[in-house]
Amino acid sequence: MPSKRNILSTIPNARGNTAKQQNLPPQTNQTVFKTPEQKPPPSEIASKASFEAPAPLRYKPFISKNTNINPEALVYGSPQYYLYRADSLQKTYSRKIYYDNLQTIIDQISATPDDKLNPAVNTDNWYAAIDFNIRKPHFIILHHTGQNSVEQTLFTFSFRKKLESSAHYVVSRDGAVYQMLNDYVRSYHAGAGKWGNISDMNSCSLGIEIDNNGEKDLFTSAQINALIKLLTYLKEKYSIPTGNIIGHSDFAPMRKNDPSVLFPWSRLALAGFGYWYDINNLKEPPPDFNPLLALRVIGYDISVPEYAIIGFKRHFIQNNESKTLSDYEKKIIYNIMLKYE
Ligand SMILES: [Zn+2]
Repeated sequence: MPSKRNILSTIPNARGNTAKQQNLPPQTNQTVFKTPEQKPPPSEIASKASFEAPAPLRYKPFISKNTNINPEALVYGSPQYYLYRADSLQKTYSRKIYYDNLQTIIDQISATPDDKLNPAVNTDNWYAAIDFNIRKPHFIILHHTGQNSVEQTLFTFSFRKKLESSAHYVVSRDGAVYQMLNDYVRSYHAGAGKWGNISDMNSCSLGIEIDNNGEKDLFTSAQINALIKLLTYLKEKYSIPTGNIIGHSDFAPMRKNDPSVLFPWSRLALAGFGYWYDINNLKEPPPDFNPLLALRVIGYDISVPEYAIIGFKRHFIQNNESKTLSDYEKKIIYNIMLKYE
């Protein structure tokens, strides 16, 4: 193993000469300019220091805004009941687990190569590349909560469950947006499924839960306006392609039907989030058009064709649950496929 040496003494100058070379005795009758002492820029010093001694996490305790709740008067299952319980969990437990998980992530991403963990690399061959940042979300998956109030969802995502579930954001009926996870962490919202060739959707997406019980519950206009405001920010910040904003049911039609068929996808598409078809300009597909392959181009998993059709219909037809496609629906698929190509 090479011994440690002071790399600063051999930092090259603009001509590629090292400091040591520049310190050679000057030639006689030559004008000599003193080279200023070479110090690393302050940013280098700072990052070196923080690498050796990582700063502690900035822990922010939870402060409840709902101090006027009387726990004695709470009706089981009411929004106030769930709000009280969610606040109690946040104060005593959830934030601690959140920061413990963050610390685990920091430890994981700070680990240097180790051939015990990865036998393909040699521990001694650790050269830090210096140009990097954190991976960004590239998809947004929309859900309905299937619960009766936003407070119930805040409570559900605040405690440890057998079946882990979470989301980055929850949008309430009155348009309030709750953030529950930082955009850069992997949330458990999408589960098993496939879109294009992506099966681990949690690793590359943000999950947005929309407070709606999923039955005949209408999405409110305050809620959709708030959702559009949130999507506007996220799409631009992470350069998320228009077609990468989809529903849970598009990704996992076999298991999930959210957001429900009442979700206003066409309105969202009009605002630039997800695609919708040109209702007044539907062209006849070519004679060799294969609607199933077209669904595959859009992103649907066609390994079980009827589920690809069901997923498509929930999103784009919305009032027809049959597993076959009419000529009109084939025209819609053709129209949408051209947007995804
Ligand atoms: Zn869902």
